[in-house]
Amino acid sequence: MNILPSAMQSIVREIEERCGRAIGLRPLPDNFRMAMGDCPAIQIEGDYRGPLVNLMIPSGLTPPAHMIAHEILHAKDVVLDGAPILQRRTGSPALVDTAINNDAAHLGIIPQEIGVFPEAEAFWSNDFERGLRDFVDRAKSDSRNSALRNDILRLRLVTSLVLPRWPHAGQLQDLIIKLNIANDAASLRFAHEKAGGRRLHILSNFVRFHRLKPEDYVALYVASAPVRLPAHCD
Ligand SMILES: [Zn+2]
Repeated sequence: MNILPSAMQSIVREIEERCGRAIGLRPLPDNFRMAMGDCPAIQIEGDYRGPLVNLMIPSGLTPPAHMIAHEILHAKDVVLDGAPILQRRTGSPALVDTAINNDAAHLGIIPQEIGVFPEAEAFWSNDFERGLRDFVDRAKSDSRNSALRNDILRLRLVTSLVLPRWPHAGQLQDLIIKLNIANDAASLRFAHEKAGGRRLHILSNFVRFHRLKPEDYVALYVASAPVRLPAHCD
């Protein structure tokens, strides 16, 4: 944590005060490492004493400060700012649930991260470009795949908002037109603007635009009762 600038250190202290204990440092489990690569990750759980936050770092690596800060901002989002987390009512979480939660949070977190660490802009630009290349490849073999459609819709919304000068936006738009989802992309952007930064509505928009059922989900808050997702964005 001591590689973080003082503004981030005070966020760490606030999180620790709210939790009543220090943020734990843990090695990143192998299954996470296989799914996400060599990136740090944050784990937030609740128990009777309040939230428990663990920062998980791949063993043997020292990630750059902006990546640590990114994970701390995820914890701030949930623990200090009280952002809801989408969770299925029954069954185990699907990959899409994690992706929705992450992307909804990233809309706020990535601009904050870039504000403190300008080098994070190039990191995210490259990361999103890798995603785009993967989507272009997937579209060649299975252009009607609904998971691919959803991944592209989220990438479009996130990049257009957090990296407005992203040099690959044109290539992404070409793919969107080729897959015939330009109307969906524009409608999601419109619904997002109507959400006005309210996380519950942002999550609900993703659920509906991914053609998932809102009634299958609840939104969880740290130290509070689950609530139903709003059916529409008013
Ligand atoms: Zn993240």
